[in-house]
Amino acid sequence: MTEFKIEINRTPEKKQKPAFDNLEFGKNFTDHMFEMDYTAGRGWHDPRIVTYQPLSLDPAAMIFHYGQSVFEGLKAYLTIDNEVLLFRPEKNMERLNKSNSRLCIPEIDEELALYALKELISLDRDWIPNVEGTSLYIRPFVISTEPYLGVAPSKKYKFIIILSPVGAYYKEGINPVKIAVQNEYVRAVKGGTGTAKTGGNYAASLKAQELASLTGYSQVLWLDGKENKYIEEVGSMNIFFKINGEVVTPELNGSILEGITRNSVLELLKYWNIPVAERRISIEEIYQAHADGQLEEAFGTGTAAVISPIGEFFWDNKKIEISGGTTGELSKKIYDTLTGIQKGTAPDPFGWSV
Ligand code: PMP
Repeated sequence: MTEFKIEINRTPEKKQKPAFDNLEFGKNFTDHMFEMDYTAGRGWHDPRIVTYQPLSLDPAAMIFHYGQSVFEGLKAYLTIDNEVLLFRPEKNMERLNKSNSRLCIPEIDEELALYALKELISLDRDWIPNVEGTSLYIRPFVISTEPYLGVAPSKKYKFIIILSPVGAYYKEGINPVKIAVQNEYVRAVKGGTGTAKTGGNYAASLKAQELASLTGYSQVLWLDGKENKYIEEVGSMNIFFKINGEVVTPELNGSILEGITRNSVLELLKYWNIPVAERRISIEEIYQAHADGQLEEAFGTGTAAVISPIGEFFWDNKKIEISGGTTGELSKKIYDTLTGIQKGTAPDPFGWSV
């Protein structure tokens, strides 16, 4: 790997660490952060690691007005041998640039970003929690910083990486979640920004999530934005179903986010010779498969929870229960295998761990 020149300014004062056996998701941040600036005509410049600190931005900075921003999310794990493992981090950097391209943000050297990430983690290595179910969550992101109120791509940006020691994302852990199918609001449409990891998509999802929570459901199942018929994603996860022995997931259609966990699950299933298909799936088909006794399992996939089994759907005033509301056998096997690879306790035939 190429050596890049990054200025490292160690913090003069280390912070008090939280108790690692009681971590909430995304509330604690490490001692340092990585920062790099972009200026039109000059490109990306001044890569540096500095003390974790607030940003000072002009109130006219474009990020506050038109939301031109992207982000990523991945995790670092500590193995029993005290090694640090990342899971397919190059995929996150690749997706960061795909998101950048969609949002008219200048691309970032993926190797530099990965190098910066590793340098930052080694500096804050003692923040990686070692308690079961914990990890160091990594949040790389880009914001537009030019002070200008015209609607146009910004001429200045900041690329930042912050680190957060985390526990489980969903309080349910690997226990099944209850899902409300959303008929009114949509997350993304074809031609929109659904395939990019950009803040606006998440802002747009809050209303439906709020409604689902009010009625006792933990996540929203998103349907397509045109006909409100085909299944897209669940909360901020991709979705899989096991129907009569075959595993199916919605095909990438221009509005679904291409999850790295989704891709890994597909590869794993093919490796195990389990029949798997990427295709359009309607919510009606799922209810019919349930009525026919063929809906065996359903689960969400994403970096935060890895695998999140689904125990119940609510749609069109009808509730259905899946796997008797318990965690399905295949969901559990995929969860154990992926988390084993991530933590270095299971063989990694794909070379996913870095
Ligand atoms: N869909 C959405 C909308 C997401 O925000 C995420 C989380 N990045 C995913 C799916 C899952 O992607 P990944 O497996 O890469 O975490």
